[in-house]
Amino acid sequence: MINHNLKIYNTLTRTTKKFEPIHVGHVGMYVCGPTVYNNAHLGNARTFVSFDVVFRYLQHLGYKVRYVRNITDAGHLENDADEGEDKITKKAKLEQLEPMEIVQRYTIDFHHVMDAFNALPPSIEPTATGHIIEQIEMTKQIMSNGFAYESNGTIYFDVEKFAKENNYTALTGRNLDDLLNGTRELGGQVDKRGRLDFALWIKAKPEHIMRWPSPWGEGFPGWHVECSAMSKKYLGDRFDIHGGGMDLAPTHHTNEIAQNVACNHHKTPINYWMHTNMLTVNGQKMSKSLGNSFLPFELFSGSHNLLDKAYSPMTVRFFMLQAHYRSTLDFSNEALLAAEKGFARLMNAMKLLDDLKSSATSTCDISELKTNIYAAMDDDFNTPITLAHLFEGVRIVNSVNDGKESISESDKSELVKLMRSMVFDVLGLKLENAIHTDKIDGLMNMILDVRTDAKSRKDFSTSDLIRDKLKEIGFEIKDGKEGTSYTIN
Ligand code: AMP
Ligand code: ZN
Repeated sequence: MINHNLKIYNTLTRTTKKFEPIHVGHVGMYVCGPTVYNNAHLGNARTFVSFDVVFRYLQHLGYKVRYVRNITDAGHLENDADEGEDKITKKAKLEQLEPMEIVQRYTIDFHHVMDAFNALPPSIEPTATGHIIEQIEMTKQIMSNGFAYESNGTIYFDVEKFAKENNYTALTGRNLDDLLNGTRELGGQVDKRGRLDFALWIKAKPEHIMRWPSPWGEGFPGWHVECSAMSKKYLGDRFDIHGGGMDLAPTHHTNEIAQNVACNHHKTPINYWMHTNMLTVNGQKMSKSLGNSFLPFELFSGSHNLLDKAYSPMTVRFFMLQAHYRSTLDFSNEALLAAEKGFARLMNAMKLLDDLKSSATSTCDISELKTNIYAAMDDDFNTPITLAHLFEGVRIVNSVNDGKESISESDKSELVKLMRSMVFDVLGLKLENAIHTDKIDGLMNMILDVRTDAKSRKDFSTSDLIRDKLKEIGFEIKDGKEGTSYTIN
């Protein structure tokens, strides 16, 4: 039995309750992974970093966690209402590549981003295309239970029939009639019986490249069924935690619950639904389609035109942890600058920890610090409050180091253990080898000043030499109206 007071906010019940796993000592957690048709942006990364902290803290508490995070490599159409092209097929056509080349390229990019943020790999990372058989089996089961029908080679989930016996909109609490009234008439989609019905299996048009044989002819799976089929395979008909960004709750997750219930008959297939809030830019959700997205590597190199400078991966991770996962997090240069300072201060204290001199007595209260830190993490993974308490730890470290406070040997070893496990193991921060970016910045500004000076003296051979040498090392210089800036390649 693991002793803790962890409470989790459950979107389904809209309450925060003590976490009780289905199987003592074990946790099954499923998180909807990326659709690998383009580079993961910073908003996507925020969601996965949030669940990385959940994974890390559950393991820290002593749970054996099976963390499943899928890769969507087929079936995700451009529009949630089963309209438009498959996102991966569309990109493959655009770039004249095989769809699996697109999948491979962006899966590698996603892993690269996750590594940069020091996110642990999940226990299992299944792909939709690797589980076509399971998705067909689930579709067959839902049909034989009477909740799906075939129409012209496509299989639809019968939402209105399901809603007669079940609360279809339980996850969001929306009113079904309002939802029906707010949904477009069937229009061209004459194959569907009800306007809320969604596809489990989609008949492939002759030109559709990604296709598999099925009892209903050649086709491909719908997006929602992949997560139900893969979570069932690896975590069972009932499991503990399901997560994703909150934009997935109204359709993707609502439909996942419907499929699970219709297939397996458990009324509550998932005990805790966790949803992360959005990363925003000037208050607007960061998204590729809105054109306001940053790629993580644009931040690390400072090459995006909305950025004043480059920020290291751990600065960005620290910036993300400064907001609770259920609050929006607004992107700004000022917030990142503040995060850079905060992260440097924290790491400075981490470096001092081991060499602190112990005394016969303590003037600081480490057990209170420990209680506060665990209480914050237990309160639905409240990382901003956890960080605030960790800075009390930083204050203690600095005061002891300056000789203003004293710490006993046993308190010191408690403090070292507490700070190390929370900062490194749970929050997933790490010391970065790179020189502080503010120092690089200062150095570069000095070099650029020398170059500007050379230019003003019409000493162009020196100014060009500086530019070319910097380029060789990987610093690209841009001369603009407002002066000269640089990016790191
Ligand atoms: P996708 O690759 O579009 O399926 O998205 C992968 C994950 O990123 C999903 O859980 C989304 O909810 C999440 N996501 C998308 N945009 C944002 C954002 N701006 N902030 C936080 N999470 C996001
Ligand atoms: Zn999913």
